[in-house]
Amino acid sequence: MAWEIEHRDGIWLPQAGWWLDAKTGKERCFVSHAHSDHIARHRTVLCSAATARLMAARLGSSRREVLTLPFGEPQRLGFDLEATLHPAGHILGSSQLLLENEHGRLLFTGDFKLKPGLSCEPCATPRADVLIMETTFGWRNYSFPPAGETHGRIAEFCRETLAARKVPVLFAYSLGKSQEVLAGLRDTGLAIMLAPASFNMTRVCEELGASFPEYSLLDPLRCAGHVVIGPPAYGNDDWFRALPNCRTAVISGWAADAGAAYRFRANAAFPLSDHADHADLLAFVRAVNPTLVFTMHGFAREFASDLRALGIEAWALGLPNQLDLPLG
Ligand SMILES: [Zn+2]
Repeated sequence: MAWEIEHRDGIWLPQAGWWLDAKTGKERCFVSHAHSDHIARHRTVLCSAATARLMAARLGSSRREVLTLPFGEPQRLGFDLEATLHPAGHILGSSQLLLENEHGRLLFTGDFKLKPGLSCEPCATPRADVLIMETTFGWRNYSFPPAGETHGRIAEFCRETLAARKVPVLFAYSLGKSQEVLAGLRDTGLAIMLAPASFNMTRVCEELGASFPEYSLLDPLRCAGHVVIGPPAYGNDDWFRALPNCRTAVISGWAADAGAAYRFRANAAFPLSDHADHADLLAFVRAVNPTLVFTMHGFAREFASDLRALGIEAWALGLPNQLDLPLG
């Protein structure tokens, strides 16, 4: 017998009786992290304590039952099923779920990043027989420069913009990326304001033990001389419309694409991602050392094909898989 894995609006493991990152409310679901495309109103949720706190901040309180596990400590989830959460290095509290039963060890990564970030726990690489992994940047062209280098370029953009008497605005998702960008500006001496959504999420991260350089809530009337960090606005959000004379930069893994600044309608784009690039996706698979891999999100088909070329059985979940038969 092997692990049965069904892909619908999330992943369903019939033998375990648990959903993984389902997009609509379920009876029992593991939630890997608190990004909005991974949370829904489930009856019973399994997650890390930090994800539970961040999820409550985003969804409000409800009657859901929350089962939180500390990282690295196995717990029985039912007859013949053991579960362990491991940090995923994506955002604060983001977790991978390792399940073990008579069919072997199954690891579900959720979103993950292999290289350590400044605002979340470092990613673990537990061994598993079956690996279900996200492959957002699973195309060979995606290779991110070292994060330290990118943080330096972002600070330089801010200094140049301030020297030109304009306000530098850094577009970064309110949870995860805003805190990473904020932490990257530590020791630069730059004065920082956060747009309301980024401010609120940063406050929750501080309650959870994260520490950041000094910042204040955005005041459009007093933002001259400050760096402003806020979620991507594209000109129509209230907080952004109220800003005077500014220059914008988008902070995203997609900034690795040519013409990204133009496409994001920003003045600059910096490739800082909370996902693994292609080389790190491969390094992760080697460390976990599975016999079977399922890929999902982004370049799932392309990455599965790359793994098969290396002799590892791999399939894109929920997508037709074209087999790479040699010509002739
Ligand atoms: Zn995410």
